[in-house]
Amino acid sequence: AHLSAINSLNPKLNAYITVIPEKDVLAAADSSDAHYAAGTARPMEGLPIGIKDLFCTRGVKTTAASKMLADFIPPYESTVTAQLLASGSVFLGKTNLDEFAMGSANINSAAGPVVSPWQRKGDEKAALVPGGSSGGSAAAVAAGLALAATGTDTGGSIRQPAAYCGIVGLKPTYGRCSRWGTIAFASSLDQAGPMTRTVADAALMLEAMAGFDEKDSTSANKPVPAFSKAVGKSVKGLRVGIPAEYRAPGLAPEISAIWEQGIAWLREAGCEIVDVSLPHTRYGLATYYIIAPAECSSNLARYDGVRFGSRAEAPSLDELYERTRAEGFGEEVRNRILMGTYVLSAGYYDAYYLKAQKVRNLIRRDFTEAFEKVDVLLAPTAPSAAFAQGENSSDPVQMYLNDIFTVPASMAGVPALSVPAGLDSQGLPLGLQIIGRHFDEETVLSAGSVIE
Ligand code: GLN
Repeated sequence: AHLSAINSLNPKLNAYITVIPEKDVLAAADSSDAHYAAGTARPMEGLPIGIKDLFCTRGVKTTAASKMLADFIPPYESTVTAQLLASGSVFLGKTNLDEFAMGSANINSAAGPVVSPWQRKGDEKAALVPGGSSGGSAAAVAAGLALAATGTDTGGSIRQPAAYCGIVGLKPTYGRCSRWGTIAFASSLDQAGPMTRTVADAALMLEAMAGFDEKDSTSANKPVPAFSKAVGKSVKGLRVGIPAEYRAPGLAPEISAIWEQGIAWLREAGCEIVDVSLPHTRYGLATYYIIAPAECSSNLARYDGVRFGSRAEAPSLDELYERTRAEGFGEEVRNRILMGTYVLSAGYYDAYYLKAQKVRNLIRRDFTEAFEKVDVLLAPTAPSAAFAQGENSSDPVQMYLNDIFTVPASMAGVPALSVPAGLDSQGLPLGLQIIGRHFDEETVLSAGSVIE
């Protein structure tokens, strides 16, 4: 069923970059049948999922939606996808994304933009963005081209597309899922997570994806809780913080309204609602857009035409580097490398990069202090519903503003879940975000299951 949905809808949505050949998918499904028959079914046995094309998959093309890796076939499997396979899941293909996960609309892809399966009521012609960077995963799950999908979130790339496409997206605590074999964007922020139709599915999938990995030095050596047990658990007495700073001036009235609705649902479920302050929130975006490009400029230095991926014809070594990188990277990636190199260069390092690291610490401390008073925070996932293809795209700063509510949790490394909370007046989905303490995905999932 999922393969035929891909056949009929992918030409329009462009959610997959690579679809696994039907005979291989069916062989994997047969092997799952055998596990069920033998009574050895594993937790994700036979579940058909999409994999963001940022996770290296052995023998399956992995492009990061970049011309640079157009023909890259990894000889190894990322830890997260290896664990998903070991848990019985069946891979359907590799989903589209913004090039190297840089973007908020999935319009920066060498494989072309992803189109959201949603439409505005009364304006069905306007193609909408699915959000980004995990836009292919979000569109695939929303439209039934996969039961679930992996995403990665550096500053919102799981949560914002989940909100735009009306699905559930969980960014776990930094260190919860191994980064090994996932193509790096900003290593101190990158975190893999599930994108699913329900909170229960997200919990189940996280159980399969999470866990200590000695191949990733930032992987947390902590046991993986039975996340599924947290879903539907009573939240009576839970203290829910409402961060004052997220009531940004100009917040769309429909976003405020859905936020109030979420507060009411949690209150009815027995939660105590508490006003809290995260005073450094206003510096979140500026800090993120220094740190993420800085790390990206360093991580992407490896694409030099020698070791990985595409290689331009050139008469000298310097020209080989220049041409390979000029031809291989798209505009947004080149912008970020230039920004990152600038803020790391002698003379600017202290003024920008070091300063941003200090502010990042203050942002992180805001969360620690808030979590002395409350157990979770509730906020909108994004400042608006999905916008149309072409909107916001000429001005990068306008595009970056989309990440205003998602980057702070990324900077602090805390887990955050986006759950669909309702539709706006044009019939588009809106998401609410539940943010929790480090390694307390369980409470986040419990609160999320009240809202969905
Ligand atoms: N939209 C943000 C960016 O462009 C976040 C991307 C992400 O989380 N990978 O950097």
